[in-house]
Amino acid sequence: MRAVVFTGDRGLEMMEFPDPEPGPGEVVLRMKASGMCGSDLKFYRAPRGGRGGAGSLGLGGDGSPCIAGHEPCGIVAAVGPGVPENLAAVGRRVMVHHYKGCGVCNHCRTGWPQLCRAGIVVYGVTGNGGHAPYMKVPAGTLVPLPDELSFETGAAISCGTGTAYAALRRMNLSGKDTIAIFGQGPVGVSATQLARAMGARVIALDVAAERRALALRFGADEALDPQAGDPVQALRERTHGEGVDLALDCSGNPAARAAAVRATRTWGSACFVGEGDTVTLDVSQDLLRRQITVIGSWTFSTAGQAECARFIADRKIDVDALFSHRFTLDQAAEAYRLFDTQTTGKGVFLM
Ligand SMILES: [Zn+2]
Ligand SMILES: [Zn+2]
Repeated sequence: MRAVVFTGDRGLEMMEFPDPEPGPGEVVLRMKASGMCGSDLKFYRAPRGGRGGAGSLGLGGDGSPCIAGHEPCGIVAAVGPGVPENLAAVGRRVMVHHYKGCGVCNHCRTGWPQLCRAGIVVYGVTGNGGHAPYMKVPAGTLVPLPDELSFETGAAISCGTGTAYAALRRMNLSGKDTIAIFGQGPVGVSATQLARAMGARVIALDVAAERRALALRFGADEALDPQAGDPVQALRERTHGEGVDLALDCSGNPAARAAAVRATRTWGSACFVGEGDTVTLDVSQDLLRRQITVIGSWTFSTAGQAECARFIADRKIDVDALFSHRFTLDQAAEAYRLFDTQTTGKGVFLM
């Protein structure tokens, strides 16, 4: 089979791989949809050679080429020996929780293999991912895709949308809250859509006019340009001088992170999900004097992924609408060139 590999410095190649065969405890999926996630840009842009984007984000790996795509969704095509029927059966519609850990530590057993300290595989980053016709994974990584949801929606839930959902849950968002969401890329706009569905008042921020327009379409009450003035001031003005109850940074930008914390009201919570880079805060003024809780949130558990899918199905949330661009694998170079502009909605490969 031919599959997409990032080769560094915004390079990408269609490489030949053997068709995967499932070993004991494994399954092979026929891919139906494989999403493009914001963090893929880190891997796409990483310099050639060295340990690549995975190394820079502390995800391990030795920089050797592997198939990209960490939002895999498809149909079980083959099941290896020793996989119980209730875990995987040929023909079942599934998403992949895109991590493998040791399987026996407390993190693995509570559905958080990405926190395993024995060394992890991140599919699409340090192990072969979903930008391919077929993908081999341990049967335990599968999360059922509800019948009501499309494969595209399943792909989004498998990283970007699932990450947004998990962050909102970590912050205990409720319908009485005003939340500021910095960055309206695929994760940010998902957070906007889901926070609105949970009843919150949403103020979205993005430097790109296209993405502010997108945020409004997905239910933001207001969309601000953080470069048009002081975003902290703008958010305080809209919250009776108090600041927002909750702030979520999906941009990974140091200035946005600091603004998210400073725009949060006394006793409020700020949460970071954007990857990479740093932030500088004045601890006494920005955190202590205002009793701020800062949360770092990295994706979601296997159970959290299933919960997110159920929420989206039950509330009939139109996650498919996040996708502005649909591609075949052969269009991968063009797809990532466009995504790299950070002005579009979400992209997905359909097989
Ligand atoms: Zn483990
Ligand atoms: Zn991702």
